[in-house]
Amino acid sequence: MRVGSATIGGGSPVLVQSMTKTRTDDVAGTVRQARRLARAGCELVRMAVPDARAAEALPELRRKLDLPLCADVHFDHRLALAAIAAGFDKVRINPGNIGSRAKVKRVISAAKDAGVSVRVGVNAGSIAKPVLRRNGGPTVEAMLDSMADCLEPFEQLGFRDVVLSAKTTGTPETIAVYRRLSKRYRYPLHVGLTEAGLPFEGAIRSAAALGVLFSEGIGDTVRVSLTGDPVLEVDAAYELLAAFGLRRRGPVIYSCPTCGRTEIDVRALARKVKRGLRDVQAPVTVAVMGCVVNGPGEAREADFGIAGGRGKGAVFCRGEVVRVCPERELVRELVRRILRDTR
Ligand code: SF4
Repeated sequence: MRVGSATIGGGSPVLVQSMTKTRTDDVAGTVRQARRLARAGCELVRMAVPDARAAEALPELRRKLDLPLCADVHFDHRLALAAIAAGFDKVRINPGNIGSRAKVKRVISAAKDAGVSVRVGVNAGSIAKPVLRRNGGPTVEAMLDSMADCLEPFEQLGFRDVVLSAKTTGTPETIAVYRRLSKRYRYPLHVGLTEAGLPFEGAIRSAAALGVLFSEGIGDTVRVSLTGDPVLEVDAAYELLAAFGLRRRGPVIYSCPTCGRTEIDVRALARKVKRGLRDVQAPVTVAVMGCVVNGPGEAREADFGIAGGRGKGAVFCRGEVVRVCPERELVRELVRRILRDTR
């Protein structure tokens, strides 16, 4: 499925997306954040459109941002129509809260005419009341039931440019519902947890659920929702995808946890290495190790590495020690060699 210049599903690499956290009528702030996201590797930027004032800013955002954009709409179908008219590439709606079938169908027809795709996003927290009653609460069955209801008008109108999502905060429920969706439907799936938490907790919870799904080949696009800077969401998504060999963007940095044998400041070195390689796109592995016990072995296994000694360390390139230098020169030397090697 095409979303502007991006593709979702059909065997394409899992697409990384995130959301801006500004109001869209703060055009300058939203453009700045969207561009930061794009630089970090975000391939589709979603924006919440909560009211008419937010919708009025969409044409200007479209003019200023040359990247795939999705509008996130609840409750008012006219906001989705405004996003389509503004030239957004995708709209996310929750048909359960957008009102009557006729309103949903109006959005579908407009999307069809404009070649815009639609994400049908069912959320455990906003399932329609009759569905909740039928299923005794926001269960996995209720989410599937809700999805079937939501998809009906799309299928009636023969509209197939649909991405499905069914989000909850629970790890087992997320795994269960996406397994069922992937068996039942051939539409691409947007995977992620909703309200995952602060960056540390949210990344772990997301990894627990999405790791299972990715290992089973489920998921065509991902958002790692975190309470914090959205760039962290993009970084977390790539780390997770890299762990499964599904996507690689830039260096993967390993560092030892440190222990009583550590003789250099591994934490500071690893941070400096990460900062120094921020703009490197090449998919290299880099090891930052604290001592001579595991250090040289691990550093040799990686494409590049540092193994620390007392106040000094060895720099490794492609399995060979290329230089031993004082601690204060290690990062500069390592980064210099990586940049030269990957240019
Ligand atoms: Fe400790 Fe050395 Fe292992 Fe780091 S590499 S955790 S310093 S033994």
